[in-house]
Amino acid sequence: MKKAIPNTFKLPVYAYDVISVCSVEQLLDCYRQAKIKNLPILILGEGSNTLFTEDFDGIVIINRIKAIMVTEDSDYWFIHVGAGEIWHQLVSYLIDSNIPGLENLALIPGCVGSAPIQNIGAYGVEFEKFAHFVELVELATGNVIRVKDGKYGYRESIFKSQYLEGYVVVGVGLKLIKQWQPILEYGELKNFDPNTVTARVIFDKVCEVRRSKLPDPNILGNAGSFFKNPVIDKVQYDALIEYYPNMPAYPQANGQVKLAAGWLIDQCGLKGYQIGGAAVHDKQALVLVNKGNAIAQDVVDLSRVVINTVQQKFNIHLSPEIRFMNKQGEINPNLLLL
Ligand SMILES: Cc1cc2nc3c(=O)[nH]c(=O)nc-3n(C[C@H](O)[C@H](O)[C@H](O)COP(=O)(O)OP(=O)(O)OC[C@H]3O[C@@H](n4cnc5c(N)ncnc54)[C@H](O)[C@@H]3O)c2cc1C
Repeated sequence: MKKAIPNTFKLPVYAYDVISVCSVEQLLDCYRQAKIKNLPILILGEGSNTLFTEDFDGIVIINRIKAIMVTEDSDYWFIHVGAGEIWHQLVSYLIDSNIPGLENLALIPGCVGSAPIQNIGAYGVEFEKFAHFVELVELATGNVIRVKDGKYGYRESIFKSQYLEGYVVVGVGLKLIKQWQPILEYGELKNFDPNTVTARVIFDKVCEVRRSKLPDPNILGNAGSFFKNPVIDKVQYDALIEYYPNMPAYPQANGQVKLAAGWLIDQCGLKGYQIGGAAVHDKQALVLVNKGNAIAQDVVDLSRVVINTVQQKFNIHLSPEIRFMNKQGEINPNLLLL
Protein backbone atom coordinates (compact mmCIF):
# COMPACT_ATOMS: atom_id res chain seq x y z
CA MET A 1 0.00 0.00 0.00
CA LYS A 2 1.25 3.52 -0.83
CA LYS A 3 2.34 5.79 2.02
CA ALA A 4 1.36 9.43 2.63
CA ILE A 5 4.12 11.96 1.94
CA PRO A 6 4.52 14.52 4.76
CA ASN A 7 3.98 18.02 3.43
CA THR A 8 2.92 21.23 5.17
CA PHE A 9 0.43 21.96 2.35
CA LYS A 10 -1.44 18.94 3.79
CA LEU A 11 -2.11 17.67 0.27
CA PRO A 12 -3.16 14.04 -0.15
CA VAL A 13 -0.06 12.78 -1.99
CA TYR A 14 1.50 9.33 -1.76
CA ALA A 15 4.73 7.49 -2.50
CA TYR A 16 5.66 3.87 -3.04
CA ASP A 17 7.34 4.10 0.37
CA VAL A 18 8.30 6.73 2.96
CA ILE A 19 11.27 5.85 5.18
CA SER A 20 12.89 7.87 7.99
CA VAL A 21 16.66 7.53 8.36
CA CYS A 22 18.65 8.40 11.49
CA SER A 23 22.21 7.86 10.20
CA VAL A 24 24.29 8.11 7.03
CA GLU A 25 24.52 4.29 6.97
CA GLN A 26 20.71 3.95 7.00
CA LEU A 27 20.47 6.59 4.28
CA LEU A 28 22.94 4.74 2.05
CA ASP A 29 21.19 1.44 2.72
CA CYS A 30 17.89 2.97 1.67
CA TYR A 31 19.48 4.36 -1.49
CA ARG A 32 20.90 0.93 -2.41
CA GLN A 33 17.51 -0.75 -1.84
CA ALA A 34 15.87 1.80 -4.14
CA LYS A 35 18.56 1.16 -6.77
CA ILE A 36 17.91 -2.58 -6.65
CA LYS A 37 14.17 -1.96 -7.09
CA ASN A 38 14.90 0.62 -9.80
CA LEU A 39 12.91 3.29 -7.96
CA PRO A 40 13.69 7.03 -7.80
CA ILE A 41 14.38 8.54 -4.37
CA LEU A 42 13.62 11.95 -2.96
CA ILE A 43 15.01 13.41 0.28
CA LEU A 44 12.70 15.46 2.47
CA GLY A 45 13.03 17.30 5.76
CA GLU A 46 9.56 18.45 6.77
CA GLY A 47 8.11 19.05 3.30
CA SER A 48 7.60 22.74 4.09
CA ASN A 49 9.04 24.04 0.83
CA THR A 50 7.70 21.41 -1.52
CA LEU A 51 4.66 20.96 -3.76
CA PHE A 52 3.94 17.44 -4.95
CA THR A 53 1.95 17.89 -8.14
CA GLU A 54 1.07 14.18 -8.17
CA ASP A 55 1.96 10.95 -6.35
CA PHE A 56 5.67 10.06 -6.31
CA ASP A 57 6.54 6.74 -7.97
CA GLY A 58 9.49 6.09 -5.69
CA ILE A 59 10.84 6.17 -2.14
CA VAL A 60 10.72 9.35 -0.06
CA ILE A 61 13.56 9.39 2.47
CA ILE A 62 12.92 11.55 5.52
CA ASN A 63 16.15 12.91 6.98
CA ARG A 64 16.19 12.47 10.76
CA ILE A 65 19.97 12.50 11.31
CA LYS A 66 20.28 14.26 14.68
CA ALA A 67 23.10 15.80 16.73
CA ILE A 68 24.08 19.22 18.05
CA MET A 69 27.73 19.73 19.02
CA VAL A 70 29.04 23.07 20.24
CA THR A 71 32.71 24.03 20.44
CA GLU A 72 34.29 27.47 20.76
CA ASP A 73 37.41 29.57 20.55
CA SER A 74 37.93 33.06 21.89
CA ASP A 75 35.96 34.69 19.04
CA TYR A 76 33.37 32.19 17.80
CA TRP A 77 31.01 29.39 18.68
CA PHE A 78 31.13 26.51 16.19
CA ILE A 79 27.92 24.48 15.96
CA HIS A 80 27.94 21.14 14.12
CA VAL A 81 24.36 20.01 13.53
CA GLY A 82 22.80 16.86 12.07
CA ALA A 83 20.75 17.69 8.96
CA GLY A 84 17.60 16.14 10.44
CA GLU A 85 17.39 18.49 13.43
CA ILE A 86 14.40 20.85 13.33
CA TRP A 87 15.61 24.38 12.50
CA HIS A 88 13.45 26.24 15.04
CA GLN A 89 14.41 23.81 17.81
CA LEU A 90 18.07 24.53 17.06
CA VAL A 91 17.48 28.31 17.19
CA SER A 92 15.58 27.91 20.45
CA TYR A 93 18.25 25.63 21.98
CA LEU A 94 21.02 28.12 21.13
CA ILE A 95 19.09 31.08 22.58
CA ASP A 96 18.48 29.04 25.77
CA SER A 97 22.23 28.29 25.86
CA ASN A 98 23.08 32.02 25.62
CA ILE A 99 24.50 31.61 22.12
CA PRO A 100 22.95 34.46 20.12
CA GLY A 101 22.91 34.98 16.35
CA LEU A 102 20.04 32.99 14.83
CA GLU A 103 17.19 34.84 16.59
CA ASN A 104 15.95 36.63 13.42
CA LEU A 105 15.48 33.21 11.80
CA ALA A 106 13.22 31.84 14.55
CA LEU A 107 10.11 29.84 13.68
CA ILE A 108 11.08 29.08 10.07
CA PRO A 109 9.71 25.56 9.53
CA GLY A 110 11.85 22.73 8.21
CA CYS A 111 15.06 20.89 8.93
CA VAL A 112 18.58 22.21 9.43
CA GLY A 113 19.76 20.31 6.32
CA SER A 114 17.30 22.24 4.15
CA ALA A 115 18.38 25.66 5.44
CA PRO A 116 21.49 26.05 3.24
CA ILE A 117 19.72 24.69 0.16
CA GLN A 118 17.53 27.73 -0.33
CA ASN A 119 19.59 29.98 1.97
CA ILE A 120 16.65 30.61 4.28
CA GLY A 121 16.10 34.18 5.29
CA ALA A 122 13.89 36.44 7.38
CA TYR A 123 14.04 39.81 9.12
CA GLY A 124 17.11 41.00 7.24
CA VAL A 125 19.22 37.89 7.88
CA GLU A 126 20.07 34.89 5.70
CA PHE A 127 21.56 31.50 6.56
CA GLU A 128 24.68 32.48 4.60
CA LYS A 129 25.74 34.86 7.38
CA PHE A 130 26.45 31.92 9.71
CA ALA A 131 27.44 29.23 7.20
CA HIS A 132 30.76 27.54 8.01
CA PHE A 133 30.38 24.37 5.97
CA VAL A 134 27.79 21.96 4.62
CA GLU A 135 28.41 18.23 4.84
CA LEU A 136 27.14 16.10 1.98
CA VAL A 137 27.24 12.38 1.33
CA GLU A 138 27.76 11.27 -2.26
CA LEU A 139 25.22 8.49 -2.65
CA ALA A 140 27.10 6.48 -5.29
CA THR A 141 30.32 6.22 -3.23
CA GLY A 142 29.31 6.94 0.38
CA ASN A 143 32.02 9.60 0.55
CA VAL A 144 31.26 12.53 2.86
CA ILE A 145 32.51 15.90 1.67
CA ARG A 146 32.48 19.38 3.22
CA VAL A 147 31.55 22.36 1.05
CA LYS A 148 32.62 25.72 2.47
CA ASP A 149 31.56 28.04 -0.34
CA GLY A 150 27.82 27.50 -0.84
CA LYS A 151 27.63 30.26 -3.51
CA TYR A 152 24.61 31.65 -1.69
CA GLY A 153 22.15 34.11 -3.20
CA TYR A 154 18.54 35.11 -2.66
CA ARG A 155 16.88 31.71 -2.04
CA GLU A 156 19.73 30.14 -4.01
CA SER A 157 22.84 28.05 -3.39
CA ILE A 158 25.16 25.59 -5.05
CA PHE A 159 23.08 22.80 -3.44
CA LYS A 160 20.28 23.54 -5.92
CA SER A 161 22.60 23.12 -8.88
CA GLN A 162 25.98 21.35 -8.67
CA TYR A 163 24.96 19.12 -5.73
CA LEU A 164 21.30 18.65 -6.69
CA GLU A 165 21.67 15.12 -8.05
CA GLY A 166 23.40 12.30 -6.21
CA TYR A 167 24.18 14.15 -2.96
CA VAL A 168 22.35 14.51 0.34
CA VAL A 169 23.03 17.11 3.03
CA VAL A 170 23.84 15.18 6.23
CA GLY A 171 25.30 17.90 8.44
CA VAL A 172 25.68 21.66 8.71
CA GLY A 173 28.45 23.69 10.37
CA LEU A 174 27.58 27.13 11.74
CA LYS A 175 29.96 29.82 12.98
CA LEU A 176 28.45 32.37 15.37
CA ILE A 177 30.50 35.39 16.41
CA LYS A 178 30.75 36.04 20.17
CA GLN A 179 30.76 39.82 19.69
CA TRP A 180 27.06 39.73 18.92
CA GLN A 181 25.37 42.65 17.16
CA PRO A 182 21.57 42.77 16.85
CA ILE A 183 20.12 43.12 13.36
CA LEU A 184 17.13 45.40 13.62
CA GLU A 185 16.65 46.71 10.10
CA TYR A 186 13.34 45.08 9.38
CA GLY A 187 9.71 45.62 10.40
CA GLU A 188 8.87 45.80 14.07
CA LEU A 189 12.47 45.06 15.08
CA LYS A 190 13.30 48.66 14.10
CA ASN A 191 11.63 49.83 17.33
CA PHE A 192 14.26 48.19 19.56
CA ASP A 193 17.25 50.06 21.00
CA PRO A 194 20.39 48.29 19.70
CA ASN A 195 22.25 49.16 22.91
CA THR A 196 19.87 47.36 25.26
CA VAL A 197 18.01 44.72 23.23
CA THR A 198 18.89 41.06 23.84
CA ALA A 199 18.79 38.10 21.47
CA ARG A 200 16.00 36.60 23.60
CA VAL A 201 13.83 39.72 23.16
CA ILE A 202 14.36 39.62 19.36
CA PHE A 203 13.62 35.88 19.29
CA ASP A 204 10.35 36.41 21.20
CA LYS A 205 9.31 39.32 18.96
CA VAL A 206 10.06 37.43 15.73
CA CYS A 207 7.99 34.47 17.01
CA GLU A 208 5.13 36.77 18.02
CA VAL A 209 5.03 38.64 14.70
CA ARG A 210 5.34 35.47 12.62
CA ARG A 211 2.53 33.78 14.58
CA SER A 212 0.27 36.80 13.99
CA LYS A 213 1.06 37.22 10.26
CA LEU A 214 1.62 33.75 8.83
CA PRO A 215 -0.90 30.92 8.79
CA ASP A 216 0.15 27.97 10.97
CA PRO A 217 0.54 24.96 8.62
CA ASN A 218 -0.88 22.72 11.38
CA ILE A 219 -4.16 24.63 11.09
CA LEU A 220 -4.17 25.85 7.46
CA GLY A 221 -1.93 23.89 5.08
CA ASN A 222 0.66 26.06 3.28
CA ALA A 223 4.32 26.19 2.32
CA GLY A 224 5.13 29.76 3.35
CA SER A 225 5.97 32.24 0.60
CA PHE A 226 4.90 30.56 -2.61
CA PHE A 227 6.72 33.02 -4.90
CA LYS A 228 10.11 34.73 -4.79
CA ASN A 229 10.19 38.52 -4.59
CA PRO A 230 10.97 39.59 -8.17
CA VAL A 231 14.08 41.63 -8.95
CA ILE A 232 13.70 44.08 -11.85
CA ASP A 233 15.99 46.55 -13.58
CA LYS A 234 16.00 50.25 -12.74
CA VAL A 235 14.38 51.32 -16.04
CA GLN A 236 11.34 49.12 -15.43
CA TYR A 237 11.23 50.25 -11.80
CA ASP A 238 11.26 53.95 -12.76
CA ALA A 239 8.35 53.39 -15.14
CA LEU A 240 6.32 51.47 -12.52
CA ILE A 241 6.87 53.85 -9.61
CA GLU A 242 5.30 56.66 -11.69
CA TYR A 243 2.03 54.72 -11.70
CA TYR A 244 2.36 53.14 -8.25
CA PRO A 245 4.11 55.66 -5.96
CA ASN A 246 3.37 53.50 -2.86
CA MET A 247 4.97 50.36 -4.31
CA PRO A 248 7.42 48.86 -1.76
CA ALA A 249 10.88 48.52 -3.29
CA TYR A 250 14.33 47.47 -2.05
CA PRO A 251 17.34 48.71 -4.08
CA GLN A 252 19.99 46.02 -4.63
CA ALA A 253 23.77 46.44 -4.62
CA ASN A 254 23.91 45.78 -8.39
CA GLY A 255 21.49 48.62 -9.23
CA GLN A 256 18.46 46.37 -9.66
CA VAL A 257 15.38 46.70 -7.46
CA LYS A 258 13.61 43.98 -5.49
CA LEU A 259 9.80 44.25 -5.24
CA ALA A 260 7.40 42.63 -2.80
CA ALA A 261 5.60 39.79 -4.61
CA GLY A 262 2.83 39.84 -1.96
CA TRP A 263 2.10 43.52 -2.70
CA LEU A 264 1.91 42.87 -6.45
CA ILE A 265 -0.53 39.98 -5.91
CA ASP A 266 -2.60 42.06 -3.52
CA GLN A 267 -2.81 44.92 -6.07
CA CYS A 268 -4.33 42.43 -8.53
CA GLY A 269 -7.20 41.92 -6.06
CA LEU A 270 -6.31 38.27 -5.59
CA LYS A 271 -6.37 38.05 -1.77
CA GLY A 272 -8.87 35.32 -0.91
CA TYR A 273 -9.16 34.17 -4.56
CA GLN A 274 -9.93 30.46 -4.58
CA ILE A 275 -9.72 27.56 -7.03
CA GLY A 276 -11.12 24.29 -5.71
CA GLY A 277 -9.75 23.94 -2.18
CA ALA A 278 -6.73 26.21 -2.73
CA ALA A 279 -6.79 29.96 -2.03
CA VAL A 280 -4.59 33.03 -1.88
CA HIS A 281 -4.37 33.71 1.87
CA ASP A 282 -6.69 36.55 2.83
CA LYS A 283 -4.11 38.25 5.09
CA GLN A 284 -0.81 37.51 3.33
CA ALA A 285 -1.11 37.34 -0.47
CA LEU A 286 2.29 35.70 -0.91
CA VAL A 287 1.02 32.54 0.77
CA LEU A 288 -1.23 30.02 -0.99
CA VAL A 289 -3.25 27.90 1.42
CA ASN A 290 -5.15 24.64 1.47
CA LYS A 291 -8.62 25.42 2.81
CA GLY A 292 -8.92 21.78 3.85
CA ASN A 293 -9.87 19.81 0.78
CA ALA A 294 -7.40 21.03 -1.87
CA ILE A 295 -5.80 18.63 -4.29
CA ALA A 296 -2.42 19.32 -5.88
CA GLN A 297 -4.01 20.41 -9.18
CA ASP A 298 -5.93 23.20 -7.36
CA VAL A 299 -2.64 24.66 -6.11
CA VAL A 300 -1.02 24.36 -9.54
CA ASP A 301 -4.02 26.04 -11.23
CA LEU A 302 -4.14 28.80 -8.62
CA SER A 303 -0.43 29.56 -8.91
CA ARG A 304 -0.82 29.78 -12.70
CA VAL A 305 -3.64 32.34 -12.33
CA VAL A 306 -1.52 34.40 -9.91
CA ILE A 307 1.49 34.37 -12.25
CA ASN A 308 -0.58 35.31 -15.32
CA THR A 309 -2.53 38.06 -13.55
CA VAL A 310 0.62 39.73 -12.15
CA GLN A 311 2.28 39.39 -15.57
CA GLN A 312 -0.65 41.11 -17.28
CA LYS A 313 -0.95 43.96 -14.78
CA PHE A 314 2.74 44.71 -14.10
CA ASN A 315 4.67 42.91 -16.87
CA ILE A 316 6.58 41.12 -14.11
CA HIS A 317 7.10 37.36 -13.99
CA LEU A 318 6.76 35.70 -10.58
CA SER A 319 8.85 32.57 -10.05
CA PRO A 320 7.83 30.00 -7.43
CA GLU A 321 10.05 29.82 -4.36
CA ILE A 322 8.82 26.36 -3.51
CA ARG A 323 10.09 23.22 -5.22
CA PHE A 324 7.75 21.33 -7.56
CA MET A 325 7.85 17.51 -7.66
CA ASN A 326 6.14 15.06 -10.00
CA LYS A 327 6.06 11.28 -10.01
CA GLN A 328 9.76 11.00 -10.93
CA GLY A 329 11.26 13.84 -8.89
CA GLU A 330 11.86 17.57 -9.12
CA ILE A 331 10.53 19.45 -12.15
CA ASN A 332 10.96 22.94 -13.52
CA PRO A 333 7.70 24.69 -12.50
CA ASN A 334 7.74 26.77 -15.69
CA LEU A 335 7.05 23.60 -17.70
CA LEU A 336 3.81 23.22 -15.78
CA LEU A 337 2.79 26.83 -15.29
CA LEU A 338 3.56 28.69 -18.51
C1 LIG B 1 4.61 28.87 7.39
C2 LIG B 1 5.92 28.85 6.66
C3 LIG B 1 6.79 29.92 6.77
C4 LIG B 1 8.03 29.93 6.09
N1 LIG B 1 8.85 31.01 6.25
C5 LIG B 1 10.04 31.04 5.63
C6 LIG B 1 10.92 32.15 5.79
O1 LIG B 1 10.64 33.09 6.53
N2 LIG B 1 12.09 32.13 5.14
C7 LIG B 1 12.47 31.09 4.33
O2 LIG B 1 13.57 31.14 3.77
N3 LIG B 1 11.65 30.02 4.14
C8 LIG B 1 10.45 29.97 4.77
N4 LIG B 1 9.61 28.90 4.60
C9 LIG B 1 10.01 27.81 3.70
C10 LIG B 1 10.65 26.60 4.44
O3 LIG B 1 10.43 26.67 5.80
C11 LIG B 1 12.17 26.53 4.18
O4 LIG B 1 12.44 26.49 2.81
C12 LIG B 1 12.79 25.30 4.84
O5 LIG B 1 14.19 25.40 4.81
C13 LIG B 1 12.34 24.00 4.18
O6 LIG B 1 12.73 22.93 5.03
P1 LIG B 1 12.14 21.47 4.86
O7 LIG B 1 13.01 20.58 5.69
O8 LIG B 1 10.71 21.41 5.15
O9 LIG B 1 12.40 21.23 3.30
P2 LIG B 1 11.62 20.23 2.34
O10 LIG B 1 10.39 20.89 1.82
O11 LIG B 1 11.47 18.91 3.00
O12 LIG B 1 12.68 20.12 1.15
C14 LIG B 1 12.96 21.25 0.36
C15 LIG B 1 13.89 20.86 -0.80
O13 LIG B 1 15.16 20.47 -0.30
C16 LIG B 1 15.44 19.10 -0.62
N5 LIG B 1 16.05 18.52 0.59
C17 LIG B 1 15.52 18.47 1.83
N6 LIG B 1 16.40 17.95 2.70
C18 LIG B 1 17.52 17.64 1.98
C19 LIG B 1 18.78 17.06 2.32
N7 LIG B 1 19.08 16.70 3.57
N8 LIG B 1 19.71 16.91 1.32
C20 LIG B 1 19.42 17.28 0.04
N9 LIG B 1 18.23 17.82 -0.33
C21 LIG B 1 17.29 18.00 0.63
C22 LIG B 1 14.10 18.46 -0.96
O14 LIG B 1 14.23 17.39 -1.87
C23 LIG B 1 13.37 19.65 -1.59
O15 LIG B 1 13.77 19.83 -2.92
C24 LIG B 1 8.38 28.85 5.28
C25 LIG B 1 7.51 27.74 5.17
C26 LIG B 1 6.29 27.74 5.85
C27 LIG B 1 5.39 26.55 5.74
